[in-house]
Amino acid sequence: MATPRRYDCTKCPGYCCSYELIDVTDRDIARLARHHGVGRADAKRRFTKLDSGRRVLRHHLDHVYRSTCVFFDQESRRCTVYEARPQVCRTFPSGPRCGYFDFLRFERAQQGDDEFVPGSPRTARGARMAKRAPQRPGPGAQEA
Ligand code: SF4
Ligand code: SF4
Repeated sequence: MATPRRYDCTKCPGYCCSYELIDVTDRDIARLARHHGVGRADAKRRFTKLDSGRRVLRHHLDHVYRSTCVFFDQESRRCTVYEARPQVCRTFPSGPRCGYFDFLRFERAQQGDDEFVPGSPRTARGARMAKRAPQRPGPGAQEA
């Protein structure tokens, strides 16, 4: 029997989508190209970039974290290419716990505020989630 998941992506503003280097493989690019109805070379140029010798997803600025993956909707705090997301997003986190979610839950309990986002670079004290998105399928929210 599978170990129950100990985190809830619908209560998190998508920290893992703000990782600076989110790797993409040729297969991921082909999937994203099909999803968008464009050629692989076009998808590679538009959605990815080389950073420190790694092919990674492009980012855009964010109001909670410094920036997020270009496919992250910053108001709903959800992935806009969930069906076509890269493999690394499908397997994260690898176990039943997410370290960031444990941290978030602890800090929110300390603050008595269940929308508090600690460590946001946008404010000195932190930020609040932009909007509740109960259906948000985060990277760790693997389909049944
Ligand atoms: S896996 Fe879910 S809980 Fe963990 S950082 Fe990503 S969105 Fe947040
Ligand atoms: S889950 Fe979606 S939004 Fe998040 S890093 Fe992956 S592709 Fe980007």
